[in-house]
Amino acid sequence: MKYKAYTRSNYKQIPQITNLTEKEIFDIDVVSIIFPFKTNNYVIERLIDWANYKTDPLFMLNFPQKGMLKKEHYQEIATMLRTNTPQEIIKKRANEIHMQLNPHTSGQLELNIPQINGKKLFGFQHKYKQTLLIFPSHGQTCHAYCTFCFRWPQFIGVDELKFATQETELMVEYIKNNPQITDVLFTGGDPLIMKTSKLRQYIEPLLDDSISNVQTIRIGTKSLAFWPYRFTKDDDNQELLDIFRTIVSKGRNLAFMAHFCHPNELATEEVKEAIKRVLSTGAIIRTQSPVLKHINDQPEIWANMLRTQINLNLIPYYMFIPRDTGAKDYFSVSLEEAWDVFRKAYQKVSGICRTIRGPVMSATPGKVQVLGVTKIKEEKVFVLRFIQGRNPDWVCKPFFAKYDKKAQWLTDLEPAFGAKKFFFESQLEKFYHSAIEDIEYYDFE
Ligand SMILES: *Cc1c(COP(=O)(O)O)cnc(C)c1O
Ligand code: SF4
Repeated sequence: MKYKAYTRSNYKQIPQITNLTEKEIFDIDVVSIIFPFKTNNYVIERLIDWANYKTDPLFMLNFPQKGMLKKEHYQEIATMLRTNTPQEIIKKRANEIHMQLNPHTSGQLELNIPQINGKKLFGFQHKYKQTLLIFPSHGQTCHAYCTFCFRWPQFIGVDELKFATQETELMVEYIKNNPQITDVLFTGGDPLIMKTSKLRQYIEPLLDDSISNVQTIRIGTKSLAFWPYRFTKDDDNQELLDIFRTIVSKGRNLAFMAHFCHPNELATEEVKEAIKRVLSTGAIIRTQSPVLKHINDQPEIWANMLRTQINLNLIPYYMFIPRDTGAKDYFSVSLEEAWDVFRKAYQKVSGICRTIRGPVMSATPGKVQVLGVTKIKEEKVFVLRFIQGRNPDWVCKPFFAKYDKKAQWLTDLEPAFGAKKFFFESQLEKFYHSAIEDIEYYDFE
């Protein structure tokens, strides 16, 4: 099948769109002024259940939903569209709304950015000792856009290229100078949106014997879910699989960090075939997803998804708590709800599936896992711990926060037992002051 993208400008050509009411189509027109909208012919034809599109998780994962916008923003844009307001004026207003939704102006993006000889390496992030993140400039888009995605400023050009790299020479030099790096993680967008020839330019230098400290090459990708033909039918699919084989034959570990939000993404013949081909190269596929209202906030869905993943020889890795996206209120669950989904799903599956860790917030000080809610003496508390820390010393030390039914993120929490600060806070403040403009935003999803 040939890839065909549908966006705001041409989605009305999707044959199944006639299932929708005029009102629903208008809502898409309104919301897609603010949030980027992109889907493709595979998602349309193979993943969405059009007979039940209103509640279909894959429909909601790709098609803008009215609830994603604040009421007042919806009203304002809807009025502009109804009264045929000129494009430039709508665009200008949309930009203002973007700025409100995205509190991180582009100036603040320069975080966790490594330096070499005083030169900043844009397109790289180095937060945890062992793992270097790479945002290849040609991989900063996706085969379809997830409605919940916090990377949307990247897609609409608000923060664009500042965060992407083409500089493989500097990458190699940096890795050479930092022998503690064992993992290189390609992320985006979706690095597998790149043509194989482009990807090769990033991967080949990593296989050089001079940087044998790189033992794992990770690829963060949604391609298996959104465009499995990348591995089976695209013109350069064989060359892509050949690169994977080369990595493995060099004695390196190739780890797919595959995003799957719902078991329906794992149900088609196409995805099963794609998984088989990737695994046949010697790659390992790990899986991760946020827990999302409307899409997968049921323990049964997660239990089913974990079991399905294991049956397909995938290794469950992370359940994330969605971060502050533009449409946060629509997709977010509370920390307690996230824990509840995790716990109940975990209870339903065998130990083989329990390689998943979560629910996890990828937050400024590190990756923080919600271990649970409990009562200690008379106080109801959250028990938390770092799975990754800006300071490795923080990892695996349990800590406590006051129970808060509504809390959705680490920053909503206060220390328990009358403490003034969490144990890591003073050090974190020091990091802030010493680091350049070390404000967290572009973190791992
Ligand atoms: C999550 C993350 C990683 C990878 O962490 P692992 O626990 O090793 O999977 C690396 N860098 C950043 C910035 C991250 O957020
Ligand atoms: S969640 Fe991943 S695949 Fe989805 S839009 Fe964001 S970066 Fe792309």
